[in-house]
Amino acid sequence: MAEDKRDYYEVLGVDKSVSDDELKKAYRKAAKKYHPDLHPGDAEAEKSFKEVNEAYEVLSDKEKRARYDQFGHAGVDPNFGAGGGYGGGFGGGFGDFGDLGDIFGSFFGGGFGGGSRRNPNAPRRGNDTAASVNLSFEEAAKGCKKTVKVTKIENCNECGGTGAEKGTSPKTCPVCHGSGQVSATQRTPFGVMQTQKVCDHCHGSGKIIDNPCRKCAGKGRIRHTVEQTVEIPAGIDDGQIINLRGGGDAGVNGGPSGDLRINVNVRPHPIFERDGFDVYCEIPITFTQAALGAEITVPTLDGKVKFTIHEGTQPGDEFKLRGKGIQRLNYSGKGDQYVKINVEVPKDLSKTQKEKLKEFDSVTDDKNYRKRKTFMDKVKDFFNE
Ligand SMILES: [Zn+2]
Ligand SMILES: [Zn+2]
Repeated sequence: MAEDKRDYYEVLGVDKSVSDDELKKAYRKAAKKYHPDLHPGDAEAEKSFKEVNEAYEVLSDKEKRARYDQFGHAGVDPNFGAGGGYGGGFGGGFGDFGDLGDIFGSFFGGGFGGGSRRNPNAPRRGNDTAASVNLSFEEAAKGCKKTVKVTKIENCNECGGTGAEKGTSPKTCPVCHGSGQVSATQRTPFGVMQTQKVCDHCHGSGKIIDNPCRKCAGKGRIRHTVEQTVEIPAGIDDGQIINLRGGGDAGVNGGPSGDLRINVNVRPHPIFERDGFDVYCEIPITFTQAALGAEITVPTLDGKVKFTIHEGTQPGDEFKLRGKGIQRLNYSGKGDQYVKINVEVPKDLSKTQKEKLKEFDSVTDDKNYRKRKTFMDKVKDFFNE
């Protein structure tokens, strides 16, 4: 919205009497703050960066600044009031600021201009893509094959990624000679400056396609969704990511493909829990089994195993089944399984059952209940009885 345009002086944080020098300083500071290379993917920063550049372009030009002072935005923007924005003309203007390029050069490792000077023919790696997969506890523990839907950009197989109809090939742009950039000389308050602009003729691609490929409309690339089979390694856990190198978007100009990153979700198991590669479960036994000892059946990931509970097993006692845990991810060997014993006290007893228990109780003494005996002794001590 044109009405929302901020005052140019306000954008740069200077007042109306600002000198050229101060203006330049303020611009450098603001441009550094919002530079897209420092805020990749941040639309707000990008907007601020454009705003800053726009403000500086006007205020650094004596004529434009005078018109702006007199008429406001309407004085400098031909589209003002007609609903059009300024942004369209901005594209290639990064190079307009002479020595500022050096500042950004050192600041951003030589890449001043957010890509405006990038060689359009240089190989570029494709973007990473993401997918997710839902696994059962056993599938994660033992590994499996899964099919995931992946949306990615691939080179058009019809034109081999060139964007030109089969049998033809793209021409080097005659205006920019393939660089995607054209130079222009511009007079500014700081002197005559060499300006780099995106080539209008080829829109920066450096190439002209006379007969665009019909399948990809000349883009050379097609986005589509494919079903991909993924090998899930044994031992993977919830929240981990499987990285498939080269499974992402195709690269540009022969650059390598990005990676496909698969987020792993593992559903909980009704019996087992997992910590690292160890498996935990809790088994309820009767108090008679606990008192007399028993052979019990223990579920493991590899099937049922028999285990002998010794006489006098207590609630919370734990035993370990060595090697019955989960396959170590990318290593040999397995974790262990830990089994915790829970002694269940019987409920809803019949009259006969209660009588039998009372009869049993009448023939027990402190020797049978050592923990209880020790505890009662401590209580007596505590109260000096
Ligand atoms: Zn094509
Ligand atoms: Zn060109």
